[in-house]
Amino acid sequence: MTHKHDVIIIGSGLAGLRAALEVGKVADVAVLTKLYPSRSHSGAAQGGIAATLKNVDSDDCVEFHIFDTVKGSDYLGDQDAIENMCNEAPEVVYETEHMGVPYSRTEDGKIHQRKFGGHSLNHGKVAVRRSCYAADYTGHVLLHTFYEQCIKNQVRFYNEFQAMSLLVKDNVCQGFVAWDIINGGLHVFHAKAVMFATGGYGRAFKITSNAHSSTGDGLSLCTRVGLPIEDMEFVQFHPTGLYKQGILVSEGARGEGAYLLNGQNERFMERYAPTLMELAPRDMIARAIQTELLEGRGCGPNKDHVYLDIRHLGEAKITAVIPQIKGLCLDFAAIDPIKEPIPIQPTAHYSMGGIPVTVDGRVIYDAKNSIVEGLYAAGECACVSVHGANRLGTNSLLDAAANGRRTGKAICADVGKLKHSELPDNPMKAAQDEMNRVLGGTGKEKVIRIRHDLRDSMEENCGVFRTSEKLTKQKQILKDLHERFRHIKIDDKAKIFNSDLMEAIELEHMLEFCEVIVEGALNRNESRGGHSRTDFPKRDDDNWLKHTMAWRGEDGKITFDYKPVIIKNYQPMERKY
Ligand SMILES: Cc1cc2nc3c(=O)[nH]c(=O)nc-3n(C[C@H](O)[C@H](O)[C@H](O)COP(=O)(O)OP(=O)(O)OC[C@H]3O[C@@H](n4cnc5c(N)ncnc54)[C@H](O)[C@@H]3O)c2cc1C
Repeated sequence: MTHKHDVIIIGSGLAGLRAALEVGKVADVAVLTKLYPSRSHSGAAQGGIAATLKNVDSDDCVEFHIFDTVKGSDYLGDQDAIENMCNEAPEVVYETEHMGVPYSRTEDGKIHQRKFGGHSLNHGKVAVRRSCYAADYTGHVLLHTFYEQCIKNQVRFYNEFQAMSLLVKDNVCQGFVAWDIINGGLHVFHAKAVMFATGGYGRAFKITSNAHSSTGDGLSLCTRVGLPIEDMEFVQFHPTGLYKQGILVSEGARGEGAYLLNGQNERFMERYAPTLMELAPRDMIARAIQTELLEGRGCGPNKDHVYLDIRHLGEAKITAVIPQIKGLCLDFAAIDPIKEPIPIQPTAHYSMGGIPVTVDGRVIYDAKNSIVEGLYAAGECACVSVHGANRLGTNSLLDAAANGRRTGKAICADVGKLKHSELPDNPMKAAQDEMNRVLGGTGKEKVIRIRHDLRDSMEENCGVFRTSEKLTKQKQILKDLHERFRHIKIDDKAKIFNSDLMEAIELEHMLEFCEVIVEGALNRNESRGGHSRTDFPKRDDDNWLKHTMAWRGEDGKITFDYKPVIIKNYQPMERKY
């Protein structure tokens, strides 16, 4: 079956839905998602969305937000894109308020704001309250509001359809093919413009805060048609995942005053970031925790976690402003955080890299910013790059909403000139071949085993601290896992809601882009933001102040090229907090 629309957006998180609202004003738009829309990972976001509203700290200003984001990115963020995002933030947030997002309020009825890591006044002097929030359900209320607005504006949804292959010829996008998860069967989606909003890939790691479906499909869909992906070596490990689970304990807790303790009951952040302490950026705190653990100052019999203490905030405040954290601790760790400190460890959280796009979300296919006609991307799957080597908390909901909107506007501007380009003779071929191969496999390997080995080894060899030795080992492990994948057999052969099939498809995506992460990390001989090489501990601006563009060939061979970082007002400086 073939469906024809002007514009089809793959992904119904904040980025996809915000773009759909924009595009719906001028064109026929559909959103396709492998989940029910309101189950997208955006709904798990807790802490807030950044904007200099000055509702609580009147000294805040957009310039400080720009500076903090540039410095937080370890100077790899593109400053033109960062300026756009921070300048647009207040308008973007007020729009969400007017759509009906129920923000927490100040006494005089304005949107309340809280502190978050790396956000400061006067270029790093003191933490600032810049994060707009709705208790610790900020992503949830934003996502539901955007979805309601889409329904109100009659956006067409294809729920529980998994995009399987992209149709691109001579750098023109024709559409894509998706599998109908509920009823079975492949469908062709023929569009003038396709937008990726497929989110992140934390599930490639063992300890992660990400939803089960965050498997980075969009990245490999692009590399399979010869498109590059950018800065994949930069993976964010959030400092405070619930011990052994990875479930997020939002930075909002530290924004409200929670602090970290090691096994010796020390507030160890004093040694690593004396000014901002627990509100330093995430890359630094994750490294500080990992260092405490490696040097034997962890908590518990195995000294493999530290504590996040929120007890001093008191029951009333905890219940009012971070109720979800309390519930998660009780349900998943049997800890009452009002009475006990919370055991935590770093957790794979966010992908700074992704599909390379211009500042307006147009996908590019080389380091010279050449545009793929009719193809767009925004949100976590894209690399604009507003987060550079390390993202600040609350800047991602902002990125998804602001760049979702911006990309929507770019599509509106382009769609009149774009046409439905002719489909290939057999558009379903790649997707059909993949289905047949996975369903027809008769080997001995189990998808779940390979998936576990992938997650465990990525955690072990490509985590917070990396070395050439570990990464080289991981490169070989990935080759071996690929080989094992060729010999899988899945037990469920059904055509309808076949989660075995779905997980096999997702696993292959992860195996492919993990190679790009690992080889990118091996290639980048420096430490910057979330990429920390103990064998190259310093940032090296002379050689590495540049974005990585990586192509993965059909044979698995990865080739690199580089793109300059856009520097405007802020030259790279030493990063102290
Ligand atoms: C636990 C948690 C807490 C967070 N808290 C915050 C916070 O407080 N503040 C902040 O700024 N950021 C936060 N983040 C980050 C932020 O939530 C995400 O980066 C952002 O919401 C991503 O939005 P998105 O629209 O790009 O993708 P997502 O919301 O992840 O949506 C991805 C969509 O793509 C669809 N999809 C994927 N692959 C396919 C496919 N093959 N076919 C069809 N559909 C597909 C999915 O179904 C889904 O609809 C948090 C993240 C996590 C995990």
